[in-house]
Amino acid sequence: MTDPRLSHIADLLTLKAEGNYGLSAINQRQHALQAALLAEQQGCPEALIVACLLHDIGHMVHNLGENPAEAGVDDEHERLGHEFLMTMFGPEVTEPVRLHVAAKRYLCATEADYFGRLSKDSVLSLSLQGGPMSAAEVAAFEALPEHAAAVRLRRFDEQAKVKGLATPDVAHFMAYVARRIRPAQGLPGAP
Ligand code: FE
Repeated sequence: MTDPRLSHIADLLTLKAEGNYGLSAINQRQHALQAALLAEQQGCPEALIVACLLHDIGHMVHNLGENPAEAGVDDEHERLGHEFLMTMFGPEVTEPVRLHVAAKRYLCATEADYFGRLSKDSVLSLSLQGGPMSAAEVAAFEALPEHAAAVRLRRFDEQAKVKGLATPDVAHFMAYVARRIRPAQGLPGAP
């Protein structure tokens, strides 16, 4: 793997992802791999598999600790992750990442039984993130081109918390990342 951006992403997923995923008994890397695996098993487009793998990368690029929501802090990891990814990927990858917290607020507003199925840490962070969407926010969310992909990512996100589940390794999913990353700026073929 020669592109330093790919090595950096693989390093984050390999070395910076040992922290627990919220209050669950798995770490960030296992969570990322499980989310990507669910998308792969469902036959999702490569961009969404990449988005699932990298949706919580914002947690790995900040130093706010493992579960800042418990301390009443919204780490804005979806914004940090989006900022980190937008220099390297198109909106088909970055928008579902940016919107995956909004998708939770959306589903809380539009699906009667959704809130009741949220994990304890998702409930905790929901109030910090603004609670369920208003009707106007729901309409604005549905107008975004990638909103359906963000909702799919969100559902995989919630299922990707299974302790002890075997998954392919980081390298397996980095092959998708390598195919979806934009050419590096300054190199031939860069936009
Ligand atoms: Fe997640």
